[in-house]
Amino acid sequence: MNEAPALPRLREVINLHGLIATRALGQNFLLDEQLLARIAAIPGALADRAVLEIGPGPGGLTRAMLRAGARVTAIEMDRRCLPALAELAEAFPGRLRVIEGDALRIDPAGLIDEPYAILANLPYNVGTALFTRWLSGESWPPRWTSLTLMFQAEVAERIVASPGSDAYGRLAVLAQWRASARIAMKVHRSAFTPPPKVMSAVVHVEPAAMREGVSARTLERLTEAAFGQRRKMLRQSLKALPGALARLEELGIDPARRAETLRVEDYLAIAARMTE
Ligand code: SAM
Repeated sequence: MNEAPALPRLREVINLHGLIATRALGQNFLLDEQLLARIAAIPGALADRAVLEIGPGPGGLTRAMLRAGARVTAIEMDRRCLPALAELAEAFPGRLRVIEGDALRIDPAGLIDEPYAILANLPYNVGTALFTRWLSGESWPPRWTSLTLMFQAEVAERIVASPGSDAYGRLAVLAQWRASARIAMKVHRSAFTPPPKVMSAVVHVEPAAMREGVSARTLERLTEAAFGQRRKMLRQSLKALPGALARLEELGIDPARRAETLRVEDYLAIAARMTE
């Protein structure tokens, strides 16, 4: 790899381009380059790997990935960031492509024609919406090789939660039924400029083998019904879902149990029988 080019400090980039953080775009920037390098290292060696970054902002995480040798495609909604990102693209010729737009409206399939890792430090609502979309596709394994995403700590806990805990719910089943999910790093609120109100954590997800015969759509309907009324017994919460209670009986699952007591495998077994 060529020697990394010298770059101005991120605070200088922000001042030079007048990138005052906007709350409407969920802008909380990371400026600590050591921390950014550690986040960029979470998916493993990035040398010559394709990466999709959502929300590069002033480019802190972007430069960390470029320094690690990645080829980055980045989608950014805030036009004010584009000149700063263009400078970064100039410093790493042919290695950074920036697409201006809303990631919720852009299909990455049309942008990158090889497997890619996804990295992002996104506003909470956008991050959860994209996360759900990336994990819900019927076709598996997906085109992405890993997701490395910053979330509010409380959301990160919900993604990796185990049965029986308060945090366990639809997000945990979605993230764990055909992928492995872990909290790779906790990030203190003071690491961001400006600091958000709550703590954050980086979640790392990799696709895993999928149980045959389970439709993502059926599992979604099942978990929606079960956790939609999580304090109720399954007998009540699954009543409106055709065939679900009969499948519980076939599997010997007590309908007096509550949604949070069932393991991911139990949901898969029920969904597989509903899909048949
Ligand atoms: N990656 C930078 C960092 O770590 O310092 C910026 C992170 S900041 C939390 C979120 C970034 O996502 C901002 O640059 C914001 O403009 C961008 N953003 C917000 N919503 C977006 C969307 N729907 N599509 C693309 N980018 C978005």
